[in-house]
Formats: sequence, structure tokens, C-alpha cells
Amino acid sequence: MTDTTAATVADPYSDAEKAEFYEQLQAFAGQEMGIDQHGSDPVNVPMIRQWVEAMGDKNPIYLDETAAKASVHGGLVAPPSMLPAWVMRAYGVDRNALGPNPYADLTALVESHGFTSVVASNSEHTYDRYLRPGDEITLRTVIDSVSPEKQTALGAGHFISTRQDYFDQTGERVGSMLFRILKFRPKPQAVTAAQPQAPTARPLRPRPATTHDIAFFFDGLNEGKLLIQKCSDCATLRHPPGPMCRNCHSLRWTTLESTGNGTIHSFVVVHYPQVPSFDYPNQVVLVELDEGVRIVANTLDISREQLRIGARVHLVIQRCDDDLSLPFFALATGQDA
Ligand code: ZN
Repeated sequence: MTDTTAATVADPYSDAEKAEFYEQLQAFAGQEMGIDQHGSDPVNVPMIRQWVEAMGDKNPIYLDETAAKASVHGGLVAPPSMLPAWVMRAYGVDRNALGPNPYADLTALVESHGFTSVVASNSEHTYDRYLRPGDEITLRTVIDSVSPEKQTALGAGHFISTRQDYFDQTGERVGSMLFRILKFRPKPQAVTAAQPQAPTARPLRPRPATTHDIAFFFDGLNEGKLLIQKCSDCATLRHPPGPMCRNCHSLRWTTLESTGNGTIHSFVVVHYPQVPSFDYPNQVVLVELDEGVRIVANTLDISREQLRIGARVHLVIQRCDDDLSLPFFALATGQDA
């Protein structure tokens, strides 16, 4: 939500100071991160299997040796979007212990001028070729560019782009990803007398970004129904909602009310960062509904010990506040042990 009544931020820097600051920032453009990042393992079928199972990707070129041989690839290949997975480091590795980190220095410099907030703006992927089992991948990260100060709807800020180039064992580039963020100076909160809240009052849940395509889903919840989109031409069900059928590309659709019965396909327990409108630990489940589509929701009265993949669950729609009802999943009866 953008508060248009917020006061504009007084700009603390003169044009000359800004020009000098921009020059300092430009010194970072083209700088490489101090180390190349090598994959712990070569491209391999077990990791591909985990990935395509999690994604529900049934394309045989990834796992079926015979089908892959008969395809244009002539053998097994890895899903292109898996590219970053081949060089991922273990969680908890201290990046700063690995060598010079100009990106951290750039971030610190930008923040020292008050551009403390961040929002991701865009990401562009280029895949030069399919990877095959046995390929050894190395990542090189470079600060691609830093923009002059720009005025945006969020406030004044600088766009920072990093480029990640991926190379194989022969040094040939196999893919590249450009990632751009906006570091901006946050607007001060508007001082308003409206809606005073007790200090202990819990903020409302974030509002869903409702569009014409998704409004039916939240309207349905407010009426106590979990509605799944259904193609009017080929009857394929889809969730999350979207304007077009992925199967036959039809734009005509209707809805089907879910029975609310399903199975936990996967889950994650969020501990941090904590958003005040949620309970922590925040248990988020990916439920495969019996109708065949998957939905993300919170749990209801399921302990951490009871939370397991394969558990049968059923839907409980709860009104969170005046205009928002959301789906939750509780254990199906007879399964409370
Ligand atoms: Zn269809």
C-alpha cells in the first residue's frame, strides 16, 4: 500500500555531493567478486531427479535415458532453470571469509547515504546451452552497473545490477543471470490520527494482491468455499489462478468447489524473519488437494511433531478480519496421533 499523504523526504545532499557520490559508486561497476564459485558436485542425475520431482516436471529428457537419446539432445540433460543449484553453497557459509566482497562494500556505501531499503526490480536469464551429467560448473559474479540517483514511486534510489556468469569445465559460458535491485531512501511514515491502535494490537495479515483473474478465489473464501479454476474447454484444473489454460491455452474458465481434502506434499517452518501478523514458528504447507492441484496455506492445530509429508489434511476456512478469509489445513480426523 502506498501512502500518498506521506511527507516528501528532504534531500540531504547537494547536486555537487550527488555527482561525487555517483563517481564513487561507478568505481564498483565491473568489479568481480573475489572468488570463483565452483560447484560441489558435477551435474548429476540424483540432483536432477530431486528437482524434477519437486517441480512436478515430467519431461522425459531429464530422467528417461532412452527417450533422451531419441530426442534432439541425444542424451540426458538438466533442466535449464536448475543452473544456480549447481554452484549453491551450504547454508551458513560466511561469504566474507571467502575473499574480497565488493558487493558488500558497495551496499555499505549506498546505505551510508540513507538508501537503506531494498526491493528486487528484475531478473533476466540467458541459457546458452543445456547442461549434461558430468558438466562441472563455475560461477563468476560481477557488479554489472550502478545507476545515477533515480526518483521512483518508492523514493529516491540507485539501481544496482549484478551479473552471474556460469562456465563449464572448458571455460565456455553456459548461462548468465542479471539481477537488479533498487536501493532506496524510505519515505517517513505519515503522522496520522486515524485508527489509533493499542500497542499490543496485532497488525492485519498482508492483503492479497487481487486482480481480475484472482478475485473469484478470495470472494469464494469469504463465502466459505475453496474454488479451483477449471478450463471450460478441456476441463483441466489449475491453481494458482491465471487467465489461460496451460493445457489447451483457452481463456474460458469456470470454477469447481474443492472438497477440501488433501495430503501434505511438502512443508516449511518459517522462524525468521518474523512478520507481526503471523504466529511463529509459522508452519506453511503445500497441500495436494484430492482434485489434483496444490495449494499453499498455513496449518491449524497441527503440532510440529504431527507435521509430516504424506499426512492427510482437511480444509478449514477462517475469517482473519473483516474482509479477508483464508484457507488453513488441519489433520484429517482419525489422524491426530
Ligand atoms: Zn484447457
